Amino acid sequence: MKKHAIIPIFIPHRGCPNDCVFCNQREITAQIEDVTSPDVRKKIEEYLVTLEGRGLETIEVAFFGGSFTGIPIEEQSAFLKVAKEYKDIGKIDKIHLSTRPDYIDERILNNLKKYGTDIIELGIQSFDDEVLAASQRGHDSRQAVQACKLVKEWGFELGIQLMIGLPSDTKEKAILSSKKAVKLAPSSARLYPTVIIRNTKLMEMYKEGSYVPLDEDEAVEITAEMYKLLHEAGIKILRVGLKSTDIMTDKEGGAALRGTYHPAFRQLVEGRIAREALEGKLNELQGDISNVTFASNSACFSNMIGHKGENKRYFAENYASLNISYIINQTLADNEYIVIKF
Ligand code: SF4
Repeated sequence: MKKHAIIPIFIPHRGCPNDCVFCNQREITAQIEDVTSPDVRKKIEEYLVTLEGRGLETIEVAFFGGSFTGIPIEEQSAFLKVAKEYKDIGKIDKIHLSTRPDYIDERILNNLKKYGTDIIELGIQSFDDEVLAASQRGHDSRQAVQACKLVKEWGFELGIQLMIGLPSDTKEKAILSSKKAVKLAPSSARLYPTVIIRNTKLMEMYKEGSYVPLDEDEAVEITAEMYKLLHEAGIKILRVGLKSTDIMTDKEGGAALRGTYHPAFRQLVEGRIAREALEGKLNELQGDISNVTFASNSACFSNMIGHKGENKRYFAENYASLNISYIINQTLADNEYIVIKF
């Protein structure tokens, strides 16, 4: 049973003054009607009807859209006031929002506290200054670190978002960003490989040859390394890869450049982590081996098999002399894989 539900409310950032190369918010914003506080109430009511009686442990109202605290503070307050009403009467449990690191200061945090905000998610993208500059983020890593610290000092739950494969990014920089993130100890993280979306500066850079996207295998490999670092530090990985609904579709059959978006990216990454763990354990086995069993808990079984069976195929091709069976062992933790020799 699903224990946690989110009531998502998209707040388009009208007139965002920033120009991040990967973003097509302007286009999205131009096509989405302005949200008002009665809209927020209506959305919450609509969701609550569908969530009733489902035995949920927590219900969260989440204001998404990237830059909640960049909108005028009176509008922030109007939206939050509605959410707080529902929190005060116990119909929702948490208020969550996402924003940019440079739209965080004491005045803003004070206002968010006043309206009962619980979770602040920061679009960090990278802790590397070259990557931030090449992506025209408009802030540097010092501001990102400062914002993370401030959010925690004020007693909010911190979430962070990191991107993989932005202009000027490398595997080393991405890993370093994850290590810096671990030091700042957020509660949760989202990992987004860069997707080239139509009508963005990044698409122009790609066309003129000044930006070369990662291929899928590289993106999976780097994201898997980052995932492991964050997961091992106890940081909850809320999302890996964009949702299809995050990418506005167009008449040409999709807004993302072919090859830069995979709808099951999380499974590719978790499958890669499973494969590496199993292969490492397999290679540690001593003596003659002809029969082995790979085991995981039921939640991780599909990762063990791999997306569309790719791990099964990998082991069948690379360890052709081995007879491998795949079983569920519910005593294992998430992301724990074992190899048993017979
Ligand atoms: S990513 Fe956020 S801050 Fe950057 S241009 Fe888009 S809406 Fe503005």
